[in-house]
Amino acid sequence: MTQQRGIGADGVHEVYAIKYATVNRARQSNFLDPVEGDPDAPMALDFFIWLVRGNGASLLVDTGFSRVSALARNRAFLQEPVQALLSLGVSADAISDVAITHLHYDHAGNVNQFPGATVWLQEREIAYATGKCMCDRKQSHFFALDDVSVVLKRIYDGEVRLIDGMHPFAPGIEFHRVGGHTDGLQIVRVRTARGWVVLASDAAHYYENLRRQNPFPAIFSKSDMMEGYARIRQLADGEDNIIPGHDPEVCVKFERLDLPGAHIYRIA
Ligand SMILES: [Zn+2]
Repeated sequence: MTQQRGIGADGVHEVYAIKYATVNRARQSNFLDPVEGDPDAPMALDFFIWLVRGNGASLLVDTGFSRVSALARNRAFLQEPVQALLSLGVSADAISDVAITHLHYDHAGNVNQFPGATVWLQEREIAYATGKCMCDRKQSHFFALDDVSVVLKRIYDGEVRLIDGMHPFAPGIEFHRVGGHTDGLQIVRVRTARGWVVLASDAAHYYENLRRQNPFPAIFSKSDMMEGYARIRQLADGEDNIIPGHDPEVCVKFERLDLPGAHIYRIA
């Protein structure tokens, strides 16, 4: 599978974080347990997708939401994810594989914009997103039925690889199910020039969730969430190689590329 796919045959990859939207929130709304300091202080929640590149081929991690969803949910939209990819010289057609960390609206919209790609998803995530938990509005609220339907159709069309647990995707790229935030949430571990990087997605929204063991309040299983924190630390070569799903600190820690209109950060 791996060498034919051509992604980083040498097993070392470039990783980019692409910020495509943002929203302002009160600090306390990003933590389950009471925070230290002013709970009403502003604390932005940024929205990202990630590109893993090596050897001329590209793996996209998550697909973000569109301008239409941004309006519906009152998010400040910066740029269509496919436009951001174009500014990196990557057209949607050139993406051979898309890993969806979980099916929440802000991670799994726009899948139909990558018609030629194989979609990689944990089997437990599609079971969760189409099962009895969705009778609970508090959980279904984070999903967009249209997005889940697109993925379901692609399963029926044979374009989705449903995996279970840890999956070695290519030399130097692994998918790991950690659950917690959603039942089938997966993180992506990538070998880079600076060591193993973990794209944690919503297994850790912020560095502070991880450091204080105080999770973001959208939780399917708290015990899996806490175990996930330990797993992230185990799989990454140091905290600087952990990339949380929504933390503006990523945009401070890492260099922004000089690409007009795009908010793209070089992780490795
Ligand atoms: Zn989420």
